[in-house]
Amino acid sequence: MANHCDGDFNPTGSFLKIPAIKFTKLFINGEFVDSISGKTFDTFDPRTGEVIAKLSLGDAEDVDLAVKAARHAFDHDPWPRMSGSERGMIMMKFADLIQENAEEIAALDAVNGGKLFTLCKVIDIAAASRTLRYYAGAADKIHGTVLKLSKGLQGYTLKEPIGVVGSIIPWNFPTAMFFMKTGPALATGCTIILKPAEQTPLSALYYAQLAKMTGVPDGVLNVVNGYGCTTGDAISSHMDIDKVTFTGSTKVGRKIMMAAAASNLKPVSLELGGKSPLLIFDDADIDQAADVAFSGMFFNKGEICVASSRVFVQEGIYEKLEKKLVEKAKATVVGDPFDPKVHQGPQTNKMQFEKILSYIEKGKTEGATLLVGGNRVGQKGYYIEPTIFADVKDNMTIAKEEIFGPVLCLMKFKTLEEAIKRANITTYGLAAGIITKNLNVANSVSRSIRVGIIWINCYTVFDVGCPFGGYKMSGFGRDFGLEALDQYLQIKSVVTPVLNSPWY
Ligand code: NAD
Repeated sequence: MANHCDGDFNPTGSFLKIPAIKFTKLFINGEFVDSISGKTFDTFDPRTGEVIAKLSLGDAEDVDLAVKAARHAFDHDPWPRMSGSERGMIMMKFADLIQENAEEIAALDAVNGGKLFTLCKVIDIAAASRTLRYYAGAADKIHGTVLKLSKGLQGYTLKEPIGVVGSIIPWNFPTAMFFMKTGPALATGCTIILKPAEQTPLSALYYAQLAKMTGVPDGVLNVVNGYGCTTGDAISSHMDIDKVTFTGSTKVGRKIMMAAAASNLKPVSLELGGKSPLLIFDDADIDQAADVAFSGMFFNKGEICVASSRVFVQEGIYEKLEKKLVEKAKATVVGDPFDPKVHQGPQTNKMQFEKILSYIEKGKTEGATLLVGGNRVGQKGYYIEPTIFADVKDNMTIAKEEIFGPVLCLMKFKTLEEAIKRANITTYGLAAGIITKNLNVANSVSRSIRVGIIWINCYTVFDVGCPFGGYKMSGFGRDFGLEALDQYLQIKSVVTPVLNSPWY
């Protein structure tokens, strides 16, 4: 295993860059403020496990303050009342500022989330600006329709912003998640209270500051850091929040729905976990299939909800593909995410690191064959080798539960029907992939697997224009695409009699 954490490599050595952490308070009503309690919490560098900053810890009282600011901005201030094109212009400037500060922001996500610095700049941050621009362009195209009603009646619909939105996001893509949620909400004229994951709170505060510099009015975008069971729960159960949008685990999604139901029955949309299948058929190009399967699983160190964690390979090419995947795992450089030679950084946090190692142990004890990896890398930080198990059975824990780390389960299949059936044996329904040259196979599999997105001859290809969300216990509602705007809109019907018309 090639890695930069063995021997004399010092993860706190030449690549250690701790960027200036300028913003550590809550962002409420356009100002950085201490939490009411005055309490703080620590945020860590996953390369070392050491504390890099103390941040203000919000709780229910701070959420309440943020909701009052967002409510005021929605009920009385210009944001929801200005034209879509005016909002769009502010959002375009916001997108420009993100690009201008890409280096500094990427360093925050790398030091706080273990994300590869260079990829973060060219993928996450570039996608964030594109997301804002996409929704900026949509802001002046939101409109209702003229209704065809019974004789003597005239009607039309209005699409109105839903109001004050609570957004709760996870730690694996702090930047992408921030804009996936705020882009469409801002475009529709909503006001927002966003809670980042407590593990990766830094870039959201930076974005709040950029929003202010761009001209997003005070109270429109508030960021309240804190823990899920306090700050997150205060958002989902708040009586004056009109909608909650959440990305995270299925377990927490259920709690959010219950809190929303028990308070003001606010609508929720949930993007949850996955255990996504990738089906590779005998006619596939082996090199291409190995590339897709490997990056589908190990991109972002496996901390991605759509990870192709169950790779089903048809028996004719199984042996060859297994060999290629093992070679790729052995060639993977694990190490400091600021080092341009590194392919895989540390897992984001200690809890996740330990959880992944315990799943690896479970895979071994339940009888799967460990082909490669399986160990931590180095003695410091949260590095794990890319790990591949073969002989995985559908009922093993590692095949059923979301590991959210660099662990791939390889399985063999004979027929198309068997592959479809096994791909669907999961409570999740987020994503799936197919690799084949046969169009009929691709069509038939894409119609038969119950997931929100299917990639054919590619994997983990996201575009803001493509709606994204789950079936089954992977949630409901769609982020991205024009469909995401609907999450933040109400439809009002206006009906009136037509009097004295020569036509009626
Ligand atoms: P998590 O559900 O533990 O936490 C997500 C967010 O919810 C955090 O901000 C957390 O503080 C908050 N939270 C926790 N308890 C809460 C509560 N009781 N009330 C309100 N908020 C609460 O998830 P995680 O560990 O941060 O992220 C990993 C999970 O997210 C995985 O299951 C992964 O599949 C999922 N995920 C899904 C998508 C998607 O688009 N479907 C994308 C990324 C991650």
